[in-house]
Amino acid sequence: MSRSTELDHIGVAVRDLDNAIKFFTEVLGLELEKIEEVPEEKVRIACLKLGNTQIELLQPTDPSSPVSRFIERKGEGIHHVALRVKNIHELCRFLREKGLKLVYEEPREIRGERLINFIHPKSALGVLIEIVERR
Ligand code: ZN
Repeated sequence: MSRSTELDHIGVAVRDLDNAIKFFTEVLGLELEKIEEVPEEKVRIACLKLGNTQIELLQPTDPSSPVSRFIERKGEGIHHVALRVKNIHELCRFLREKGLKLVYEEPREIRGERLINFIHPKSALGVLIEIVERR
């Protein structure tokens, strides 16, 4: 049974979103799809199209943002890998049964268009894995 269908996006933590967008569009030629505020995560994100997947740039909007703490500790760089799944609730139950640590008790709904949760890096070989169910 396949639980994850494809790579949804790669999240990159940046200090300056405008600068990062310039790099990915003007230098690497990616197409900017949208910029959005995600107050739930205290970040502003930019989505750039890359084939069937996306690069998601995350700039913290507050020092208490987890992305802010990530940049302080590790500097800018790859923050998470996001896998698209068909049924996030079922997957979260399955992962918990396996003893994995998830970041949220319940998947969070973002803008009514997607549900997300994260597998803690301690349970995933040091990689923060986002799981996404798109509506
Ligand atoms: Zn993400």
